[in-house]
Amino acid sequence: AASTSSSTEALHQLDRQRIVHPYLPASTTERVVMTRGKASSLWDTDGREYLDATGGLWLAQVGHGRDELADVAASQMRELEYFTSFWEFSNQPAIELADRLVRLAPDEISKVYFTSGGSEGIEAALKMSRYHHYRRGKEEKTWILARERAYHGIAYGGGTASGFGMYHDGFGPMLPHVEHLTPPWPYRRDLFDGQDCTDFCIAELERTIERIGADNIAAMIGEPIMGVAGMVVPPDDYWPRVREVLRRNDILLILDEVVTAYGRIGSWFAAEHFNVDPDIIVTAKGITSGYFPLGAVLMSEDVAESLEADSGFPMGYTYNGHPTGCAVALANLHIIEHERLLARASEIGGYLLDKLSDELADLPRVGEVRGVGMMLGIELVADRDSREPLPNPQAVADAVRREHGVIVRDSAQGLVLSPALTLTRDEADRISAAIRAVLTTTHPDGTIGS
Ligand code: PLP
Repeated sequence: AASTSSSTEALHQLDRQRIVHPYLPASTTERVVMTRGKASSLWDTDGREYLDATGGLWLAQVGHGRDELADVAASQMRELEYFTSFWEFSNQPAIELADRLVRLAPDEISKVYFTSGGSEGIEAALKMSRYHHYRRGKEEKTWILARERAYHGIAYGGGTASGFGMYHDGFGPMLPHVEHLTPPWPYRRDLFDGQDCTDFCIAELERTIERIGADNIAAMIGEPIMGVAGMVVPPDDYWPRVREVLRRNDILLILDEVVTAYGRIGSWFAAEHFNVDPDIIVTAKGITSGYFPLGAVLMSEDVAESLEADSGFPMGYTYNGHPTGCAVALANLHIIEHERLLARASEIGGYLLDKLSDELADLPRVGEVRGVGMMLGIELVADRDSREPLPNPQAVADAVRREHGVIVRDSAQGLVLSPALTLTRDEADRISAAIRAVLTTTHPDGTIGS
């Protein structure tokens, strides 16, 4: 053990010296170095076990350490690890995967554009929406409607569409022609001037279209359930009503399903769950359960037709349609289907939601417990009457990990959970107990201790 911890210390030091990690500063953060994963467990360099209640980064649908996926990746790499430009050539795993995705997707979807991840997919979708109108002679349609508190990745387009100042400030001019609307966040009732949440959002959308002009707007983009905001679930009538307004104004709907797709909320796509048919669906993460960086942008025939007209769609990545990624994705989707993980996400997710509601709802720092399937959020407050947010949810997440070995993430306003869809009931119990233990010693200023 002595030699293990001295090598852990050396790794920490080298990590601080050599790696620029996102978000947290090097000086104040000692990062746990992970070495191994199996199902919902992860182990660090000292052999400590953690329960991964975050499912990697909201993507480990089938759990960690699956031999089937490692074998598929290895055999595809031996056969054809990569190939060459996806504009002139194609490959069998990509063709089969695209067909599979279209068959799983809502009826409107007929074609697929592959990327290496979510941010790349969002950039593609934003460009596609503008290009679609351009090809139809409506080049003025360039504005993008997004929402405050949205997260759409960190490239310039998606970063602009994201509704947090920290993704904009200090980066110079962001993408022009992006407008942010009010998020459909029922718990934050102060956002809606005393009106019904959906009524308010729809009236605001109509007013915004009137002001900017329907002839100038390309698309609206949104996460079906807002992840980084804190797993914010909109009212059931929100998406169908947004869809109706957009269709009436010839504005495309881009659903950012980077988190919600492939079983996370108990359906293949959140579009099904919310009864809405988008023009473009951006996916990534769960498509391979994180075993390979891959994304897929799904689109309607109408959008595909304009992109493929004339000289084609001038936007290609080196890794479009990566054969190893696509082979892994096919095998991953096979596991999700054959282990009935959609039903399991609903069942165990429902169990975990009930458990958290029972065990946390009476605590003074808990404003709301919410979620669908395996996408759950706990909104933390300094005061339950005023609903003032708890200042430092990260301290709570850190304590849950440090003191109980359960990895949860903090969001803008609380904790978010997105375990593997294979989570057991015992593991769900452990997650809830760990969070409860920390929240019973959390003070209104976000500090922890009895
Ligand atoms: N969109 C949403 C809703 C996300 O949650 C994320 C990542 O968490 C992204 C886009 C960006 O995906 P990536 O990190 O793969 O670039």
